[in-house]
Amino acid sequence: MELEKYSIGIGDRFGFEGAAQLRALQKAKKLGVQIVPVWNKSNREHSIIGTSPADTRREADQAVRSCAWKASYYVDADHIGLATVDRFLDSSNFFTIDVADYIGKPVGPDSAAAFITSMSRFRGTLNIPGMPTPLFVTDDILGDIARKYLHAVEEAARVYRHITQRNKADSFVTEVSVDEAASPQTPAELFFILAALAREGVPVQTIAPKFTGSFLKGVDYVGDVSQFAREFEDDLAVIAFAVKTFDLPRNLKLSVHSGSDKFSLYPIIRRAITKFDAGLHLKTAGTTWLEEVIGLAASNGDGLQLAKEVYSEAFKRYDELCKPYISVINIDRHRLPDPKQVGSWNAEEYVESLQHNQSCEKFNLHFRQLLHVGYKVAAEMNGRFTSLLQQCRVAIELNVTKNIFERHIQPLFL
Ligand SMILES: [Zn+2]
Repeated sequence: MELEKYSIGIGDRFGFEGAAQLRALQKAKKLGVQIVPVWNKSNREHSIIGTSPADTRREADQAVRSCAWKASYYVDADHIGLATVDRFLDSSNFFTIDVADYIGKPVGPDSAAAFITSMSRFRGTLNIPGMPTPLFVTDDILGDIARKYLHAVEEAARVYRHITQRNKADSFVTEVSVDEAASPQTPAELFFILAALAREGVPVQTIAPKFTGSFLKGVDYVGDVSQFAREFEDDLAVIAFAVKTFDLPRNLKLSVHSGSDKFSLYPIIRRAITKFDAGLHLKTAGTTWLEEVIGLAASNGDGLQLAKEVYSEAFKRYDELCKPYISVINIDRHRLPDPKQVGSWNAEEYVESLQHNQSCEKFNLHFRQLLHVGYKVAAEMNGRFTSLLQQCRVAIELNVTKNIFERHIQPLFL
């Protein structure tokens, strides 16, 4: 199973928007660009909402049927490890093996030594085509990389082999992610992580490093854009070289997590993947749920009322709701509007505060981030939330399709 050059991870917390998401990809297809969908949902999301991986599979199959989608599609067991992977084995054909927690864990002296010996041919100046500055490799540097990453790579291999005990090796796509690590990986580290994965026989098709800067959920990139641009191009050069050097899958590409709404990066990413003729997996961040809230609020009446209630409750339960996402959000509590004030807003005020339109002065990224992690509140409303979703179906689906197509696919791929 070989993942296509362009793919997009479309998380959908509540599982109602599969067809609307797919319509965005069909629009791209009509314009000549094939992007395949990957429905991703993590264990964290499943447990907060009370869904199972089988639900995601059902949603994907239904969306594909109802839209008559002819190309491939995938269901991603997102951010799994040995402890969580089993419940995903039947439903997934894409596994994102997250080993960020294993970075820096001790590694056996023998395996570190064997790794350094096997990499000794790269010692000295290492020129990587497409990279303006060569890498300089010493045993000390290799030792540092082994101490930092070898345990994590060995863990990825354990998870990969565990999956292959149940699922045929050619029946799924393997991603390895370290995007939730404490610090970004340098291009040199990425090169030797890929080397180590190849030595372990992990056929990695997408790799999600932690990039420089902050990738927060549902808001734009925070960081040095030109530094990101350099690092991203270097990573692409490293990947192309690693594929040839270590005989890794030829379609190996970068996976950009929390990739939705990174408007200031899309032109840079687009230029880079064009320059290197590279693929891309853009994993969005469950912002489809925010499009649902926008649709409810815009509908006025009960929908707006419910949207206000979700905010008011999320405001009260700030600590609880933010905790699972603490490393990927950055909310200034003083900039959050008072729920009483929000209670007096009309539909337009609510929508303008939430919709990611940076040129609108009402847009409030703190409000947006809190609602982003507030989906648990809606999940607890059970029938009330889902029946309103059905009532506002047409408007919501238009929002969902438009958000993916206009804000993400167009700047990145068209
Ligand atoms: Zn991630």
